[in-house]
Amino acid sequence: MARLLFTSIEFGSLSDPVDLEQKKQLSTLIGKPVQFMKQSHSDQVISISTDIADGQINTIPDADALVSDQSNIALAVRVADCLPLLLYSTAVVAAVHVGRKGLLNKVALNAVAQMRSLGAEKISGTVGPHICGNCYEVDSQMFAEITKTHPATAGRGNHLNLFAGLAAQISDVELLNLDICTKESSDYYSHRRDGQPGRQIGLICL
Ligand SMILES: [Zn+2]
Repeated sequence: MARLLFTSIEFGSLSDPVDLEQKKQLSTLIGKPVQFMKQSHSDQVISISTDIADGQINTIPDADALVSDQSNIALAVRVADCLPLLLYSTAVVAAVHVGRKGLLNKVALNAVAQMRSLGAEKISGTVGPHICGNCYEVDSQMFAEITKTHPATAGRGNHLNLFAGLAAQISDVELLNLDICTKESSDYYSHRRDGQPGRQIGLICL
């Protein structure tokens, strides 16, 4: 059974580079060392299996999705409006960073494929606090481009619903939306609202 954790502003920002003390606190909360990644809105998925030595995480890979079938590590994704997607099956988990670019480059599909290659069968997911479809407005050209290939994202005006687009993209995954909007809730960092580099986190482990 996977364990999930999402932080809020109360925990403090986890922007790059993550403070060692905060890393320790997160490890204590979830009971395992935490693997971060250098996120860049890419489609890159990394499998974490042998990166642990003496309980220390040695490297921070360039990736926007971490997948693992190891029970001695927790996976982290950092966000501040993008979707923190945590995926789980009985023996494989993943932490995925899905923004507008990630929806287009199908990083979540890549993560699901990687989970399946590690033996995952039924996969479920939880999407933590992110900007909602009523708050995420883009210019009309971008709206037209994205909704053409991802019609589920189309909201009123030029608003994009990234969760709806993601749910359509990985339709074989049962997705739970925590339904917390980062722009509307002052408990969470929002890039659109604050323009600050503050980040909250989604954590998952087996
Ligand atoms: Zn909203």
